[in-house]
Formats: sequence, structure tokens, C-alpha cells
Amino acid sequence: MADIRFVQAESLKEKPADISKVGFGRVFTDYMFEMDYNPEEGWHDPRIVPYQEVSLSPANATLHYGQAIFEGCKAYRYEGGKAVVFRAKDHVARLNRSAKILDIPAVDEKLVYDALMKLIDIEKDWIPDGPGQSLYIRPFIFSTDPYLGVSVGQYYKLMIILSPVGAYYAHGFAPVKIMVEDTYVRAPKGGLGAAKTPANYAASLHGGLVAHEKGYDQTLWMDGIEHKYVGEVGSMNILFKIDGKVVTPELDGTILDGITRRTVLQVCKEWGIPTEERKVSIDELIEAYENGKLEEVFGSGTAAVISPVSVLGYQGQDRVISGGKIGQFAQKLYDYIDGLHTGKEKDVYGFIDV
Ligand code: PMP
Repeated sequence: MADIRFVQAESLKEKPADISKVGFGRVFTDYMFEMDYNPEEGWHDPRIVPYQEVSLSPANATLHYGQAIFEGCKAYRYEGGKAVVFRAKDHVARLNRSAKILDIPAVDEKLVYDALMKLIDIEKDWIPDGPGQSLYIRPFIFSTDPYLGVSVGQYYKLMIILSPVGAYYAHGFAPVKIMVEDTYVRAPKGGLGAAKTPANYAASLHGGLVAHEKGYDQTLWMDGIEHKYVGEVGSMNILFKIDGKVVTPELDGTILDGITRRTVLQVCKEWGIPTEERKVSIDELIEAYENGKLEEVFGSGTAAVISPVSVLGYQGQDRVISGGKIGQFAQKLYDYIDGLHTGKEKDVYGFIDV
């Protein structure tokens, strides 16, 4: 293992008494990981230091042009109280795929994985143990060039910060209403959709706000050319149960290769449920709905795990899915994957990093 420096904090913070009250991403642990990149030394000086603010030039390239990427995964309290991370290696690998899209220098995956696991080991007491609770892990890389010229950066910083989070479904597992967006576009073909990069989230803010104003919880994004094929929902992947099969949009460069999406597809294979990754048009969904074949709709992502959809709004018309209730299959998947996180279900896939 490369040497990871450790700088001890002078004092430790008080942990929140009730994690369900802190909200998402508002409280951070005592330590963070950082490492820097310059053209002479490459990635260097990996270190775990007390959580602290970052000092940046007002001309910092990321603030102006957004050359940055991030990840999001979670540590859970596993059976016997041990600290585990769900699919950490896959998240670190995706960080490098995002890096490639944004022309950010690749990281040594083994080093970043080791750093992440070491940080979790130091901060394991911050992992809450209530149902659905976890320690959210946010690795990110951004350009630190202090210049206003628009160009690929020469200097970067990688950081990993940790935030204890309460259950996503604080009031119980519940379905959401989604609006199919046919005006605003999140990520076009040839764009940055497959990268976890701020631009995609900036592009989704206004459409998300409009959906909320119309009374929906999330936006179902469509392709940017024909406004015909669906992509992702909010910041989750979208899956449909159509006539006994699990169907989800293919990875065409406009959507994120979600780790939970992968998990769902692997679990379906294990359970003998046919899966299809392909183009899914809104017309096909409406036809399946009208023929009674659109059995369930659900999102997948690290935050919610599975997010069942009860209403699909499109061009002013609402279609009620699964009788407006949580679909049986979505519930089964949620329970199973939640069980994998905590050891209630046996890790037959090798998803758990210790
Ligand atoms: N799409 C987008 C745009 C996302 O931000 C996320 C959350 N990371 C996902 C899909 C789901 O990915 P994952 O299952 O890896 O969390």
C-alpha cells in the first residue's frame, strides 16, 4: 500500500444524538482524505487530515468552468457491528471512467480504494446503525488551476469526505410521482451524461424545480434530439417491469452506469427474471400501460436504493402505476438489497468491501 500520511485532529467533534434529524450531507466527520496532482509529480502526497475548509483562488478553474467529477457510495454497519462499504471498488472504477470523460488524470484505483477503506476504518464510529442509516462517502476531484483561460486543467485535488445520513425513507418506504420531461434536457448524446460531473446536475436543476412546482417528486428525463426515449429519473436510473421482464435504458453515453442498476440487473439474473437493456420510448411505455403490461416502474440509486413510482405524468396526463401503491417486485428488491447492505442477506455476489 502506498504510504498514506495521517494528521491527527486536536479534538474530535460531538456526534449528532439523533441522526434522523440531521438531513442529507450536512454533518461531516472528523477526518477527510486528500491528494494532489501536478504535471511534474502526478498524483502525490495522499493523506488523511482533519476535516477542514479548502482555500481556493477566486480564479479557480472549477468555479468557472466545472472541470470536476465525484462519486457517492455508502458504508453500513454490518452484522456483528463491523464497518463495510457496498461495492467500493465499482465506485472507484467509475470515478476513473468519469475522469476520462472530463480529461482528468486517472487515479491509481488501488490507492484510492485503500485510502477510502482506511478513512472508513478511522471513522467507523460515525456509521449510524439504525434501519436504513449509513455513512455517505463522497470522493471528488476538481481542477485547482488558478487561471481564467478555458482549457483542460494541469492541477487537481482529490478529496474524500464522509457524512452520516439518516434513512432516505424517514416515514417508511413510499412511492413517488414522476413527470416525463419533454422540454428540458439533462444530457444529450455526445455530452457528459455518463460522467458523474457537476454540469449534469446543473442541467437538471431547473427542470426538477418545474416538476416540483407541478406537484411531482422527480423528473423522468428524455433524449435531447427526439424527446422520445427515456433516460434517467432525477438522479437515479429508471427500470420498468413490462410483461414479466425488467427493462431499462441502455448505457448510450447519456446516462450514468449506476451501481444500484447493476446490482438490480445481477439480482434479476440470479432470480431468473429476464432483463433487457435497450432503448425505451415513451410511446412503448404508454402502449404497455394501456395494455395492462406496465406492471411496475422504479428508480435505483445509492441514496434511495429502490424508489417505486406510483404516477407517471406525461403531457398533462397522469397514469397511475401499480394501483398507486408500492409494486411487489420493487418492495422485494428493496428488502433484498437493503439486506445485502447490512448482512441480513448473504453476500453471494462479493459486493461487500471490509
Ligand atoms: N443517475 C444519476 C444521474 C445519479 O446521480 C445517480 C446517483 N449516483 C444514479 C443514476 C444512480 O447511480 P448509483 O446507483 O451508482 O448511485
